[in-house]
Amino acid sequence: MTALRVLALYPELMNIYADRGNIAVLRARCEWRGLGFELASATIGEDLDPAAHDLLYVGGGQDRDQAAVARDMAGPKREALHAAAARGAVVLAVCGGYQLLGHSYEMGDEVLPGAGLVDLRTVREPGPRLIGNCAIEADLGGGPRVIAGFENHGGRTYLGDGEQPLGRVLSGHGNNGRDGFEGVHRGNVIGTYLHGPLLPKNTWLADRLIELATGTELTPLDDELEEAAHASARRAAGV
Ligand code: GLN
Repeated sequence: MTALRVLALYPELMNIYADRGNIAVLRARCEWRGLGFELASATIGEDLDPAAHDLLYVGGGQDRDQAAVARDMAGPKREALHAAAARGAVVLAVCGGYQLLGHSYEMGDEVLPGAGLVDLRTVREPGPRLIGNCAIEADLGGGPRVIAGFENHGGRTYLGDGEQPLGRVLSGHGNNGRDGFEGVHRGNVIGTYLHGPLLPKNTWLADRLIELATGTELTPLDDELEEAAHASARRAAGV
């Protein structure tokens, strides 16, 4: 493998909280190691070739943008998304994108369909938005590590029986503010509520995703500044 091939899904619609910084970090960490980086995008109505990408990325979104995206993910792109996940492509979805990985996102009378890549449902329940710094403990191979970020979501997400969360909440709300879990993790499909953006704050996670997507083991980088950013995010979350 000479390049990481990334597909940004709906980049103009699903990009709040500077979530496009996640792509910038993937690019930088590949290029610093002499690994190629190719970026493509696909938005509503555009084709998705399931064999053409190693990592598919969907960022966070406002409810109104999610509605149009949901119909595209659950409709024309559904089959290709499932085919990409089945061949082991990494699918990383943040917040609004995460909510659309599951079966549905219920917002009052409106029920948005999801891509059905994982067994979960999201419901906009009465009650405050779940906002604040958050830290979780997750194991993506190599033992438990901390992922730190910031969450802001009105939807509460419930995993189906047997579906694994991405991690255990150390501090913050997580999927629904009740069960102590955050995100979802099935094979190489990962969903999380954590913004930050996620990967600039957790560069170990960026590297792990590159490894999973390319099937290669990465050499370490000099990460003094990145580790300071991670420590600061952990402190903000109180862990
Ligand atoms: N619109 C969704 C919610 O409020 C997701 C928000 C987000 O991506 N931050 O639950």
